[in-house]
Formats: sequence, C-alpha cells, structure tokens
Amino acid sequence: MKILIVNAGSSSLKYQLVDMTNETLIAKGLVERINIEGSHLNQKTPDGKVTDIYQPIKDHVEATQLMLAALQDPEKGVIKSVDEIGAVGHRVLHGGEEFTASCIITEEVKACIRKFIPLGPLHNPANLMGIEACEAVMPTTPQVAVFDTAFHQTMPPKAFMYGVPYKYYKELGVRRYGFHGTSHRYVSKRVCEFLGVDPVGKKIIIAHLGNGSSLSAVVDGKCVDTSMGITPLEGVVMGTRSGSCDPAVVQFIANNANMDVNEVLDMMNKKSGLLGISELSSDMRDIDAAADSGNEKAALARDMLVYGIKKYIGSYAAAMGGVDIIAFTAGIGENGPELREAVMKDMEFLGAKIDPAKNNVKGKETIISTDDSKVTVCVIPTNEEIMIARDTRDLVANK
Ligand code: ADP
Repeated sequence: MKILIVNAGSSSLKYQLVDMTNETLIAKGLVERINIEGSHLNQKTPDGKVTDIYQPIKDHVEATQLMLAALQDPEKGVIKSVDEIGAVGHRVLHGGEEFTASCIITEEVKACIRKFIPLGPLHNPANLMGIEACEAVMPTTPQVAVFDTAFHQTMPPKAFMYGVPYKYYKELGVRRYGFHGTSHRYVSKRVCEFLGVDPVGKKIIIAHLGNGSSLSAVVDGKCVDTSMGITPLEGVVMGTRSGSCDPAVVQFIANNANMDVNEVLDMMNKKSGLLGISELSSDMRDIDAAADSGNEKAALARDMLVYGIKKYIGSYAAAMGGVDIIAFTAGIGENGPELREAVMKDMEFLGAKIDPAKNNVKGKETIISTDDSKVTVCVIPTNEEIMIARDTRDLVANK
C-alpha cells in the first residue's frame, strides 16, 4: 500500500509518499507560500527527479490538487493514478485530552480538532485545512489523524497538572499536554528495538533537540512526563523560544517595556531562546561556530541549553527512580556530538559515561556510552513520517 503523509501549515503543505511494502520513500514535496505572492511547489524523488512549479495557489485545495498533479506527472511523477494512494495520514498538532492515539478522520474527529483550536491556534486550523482539502480532492480515500499530543496522554495528573486553581483545568483545559509525541513514541520504541531489549521494565529519557526541543520520560513504553506544556513554549531554551521562565517575567516585561501580554508571548515564542540570547541566530550551527570563535553571548546561549537539558535528565531520572537508556534525536540531538558530550559530562554519578570516540557520529543509530556505563546512551534519528504512515496503514487495514 502507498500512503501519503501530509503536514499542513497555515501557508504550506509538506508531503511524502511512502511505499509500505518496504517502508521506502517514493517522493517528498513542499508547497509553500499558499495564498501569498510567489507560490511554489517543489518535489523530489530518491532517484533525483526534481519538480518545480511556480504558479498562483490560492488555498489548500489548490495546493492539494497541484501536489496530486506533480505526483502523477507523466515525466517526473511517481504514480499513474490517485487510486494508487491507499490512505492519507495527517499530522495534527493538538488532540487535547480526546485523542490518546491516531484515528480515522470522521466528522466528529474534525469537530474535536476544531474544538482544540484555542489550544493550537496556529496549527489546528491549518491541519484542518489540509484534511478538508484532501477530502475534497480524494473523497474516497481514507484519511487518518496522527496527533502530536497523543503519546503524552499517559502522563499521570501529578505530572500534567499546573499549580493553578483546579477549575482552570476543568473549565479551560489548562494542563501540560506535551508535543513532538510522534517523535518521542518512535524513538522510545526504536531505541529498544535497536538495543534488542523489551520496553517493559525500562526507564528511558528521550531528548528531542531541534528548532523546537522537548524531553520526555518513558517507563514501560509509556510517557510519564514531558517538558513542553500547554503550548510548546515550556521546557529547555529552543531556537527562538524562551523555554521555561517564571510566569511573572511576562507581566514584568509587559509593564516595563510597553507591551501587552500577547506581544510578550509572541516575543517569547519567536525572538527568544538561542536567537534572543546570542542576538545572532536561532540555528545551532551558527551558535556553535560563533561560540567556538569567542562570541560570549553565543557561548552563553549554548551553555544555557546544555544546562537545561542536564537538569531535565537529572529530574526525570529522580522522578522515575533511575534511568536505563538516554536517547538523543532531531537536528541537534542527532548531529551535535559536542553538545551531547557537554550534556553527558560529569554524569557518572548517574551511571552514564560517554565514549568520545563512539560519540563522534552524526545522524546514525549508535550507542555512544562506554561498555561499562550502566546507562546506555544512544543516538536514534527520529522518523515521525514513518510513524504516521504505519498508524495510517494499521488503522485502514483494521477498518
Ligand atoms: P525542526 O524542529 O524544525 O524539525 P530540526 O530537527 O531539523 O528542526 O533541527 C534543527 C536544528 O538542528 C538547528 O538548530 C540546526 O542547526 C541543528 N543542526 C542540524 N544539523 C546540525 C549539525 N550538523 N550540527 C549541529 N546542529 C545541527
């Protein structure tokens, strides 16, 4: 079966077509600047065929039509007919407390995704547009929703509640939800397969470190805590997000810098973190290069990230009563040996010791701890798309 994976943003639509007989990529593409001047589709196939289409694209329905046209193009396309696509799997940001797993999309499911727009104001409307566009142009093809929040729904209340009056949880849904759930689920499962161990009985910490970063604590294959909160702002410092702060910072800046709460939050989401501290870049490669050549603010930004990750590892190890496996993933986690080494420095007290030679690796499944390390530390490249494709296949097969 061929599965189409769709990740719709407000002005973009990313897609991948995957052959599930051997889980291989057939084509991947991006439609960008939807309803903005300069709309563009770019599609690539593993054998090097590149499609570029520049034409006005007024909405997600047109973007989806163009995607299907590019996939079926007689010269550079990869399928002859839309009928070859067995199902579509959609990445959806927020499933609130309603969705603990992926599901086939129905009118009720769409109503729930709509209900959670206040919790995911940027993403959920875009995800819905992607779903409705695919329904419009592929009306008979089953559609599946895979939620970023679902994996974290196993957290106990003591981990997901905030210390504000209970009525805000009951009435408004104020609680920790967590994000990157599909990545945490993939990596926590994959690391056990890679090591040949049973997830049951294992205490695992996943460090997903990319533009957005989150850590999770996983016991017996189930999430028991995660660093992102009601929104993806909480946790360690990120590319442009501040990570956790005393909430009074918001009021203090608002009162003293002539901004309202929404402007402060926007600043904390888009202009803070590595970018805000370094005043240089949100990209870890730029931060590394600048820090290594003596830029003090870049070095501070890096130190803050390393220190924040260390604190989460320490607190999750304490919360779980130990840790057996630590797995690094996503852009920085997979490709930053120096950062991994800095994070794991002086962690022998926890039973974790890195082998610098083994750690000198990028983007490859590897054990990077020493043979005598009690905690096995690994690099596991994430693969959210394959998780979405597998969920979609399984749900459609069991329909
Ligand atoms: P997203 O959260 O957007 O999916 P990624 O997982 O792709 O992000 O991670 C992007 C981050 O990974 C950037 O900060 C980038 O600098 C970093 N990164 C990518 N490659 C490397 C590398 N070779 N060394 C260090 N950092 C890297």
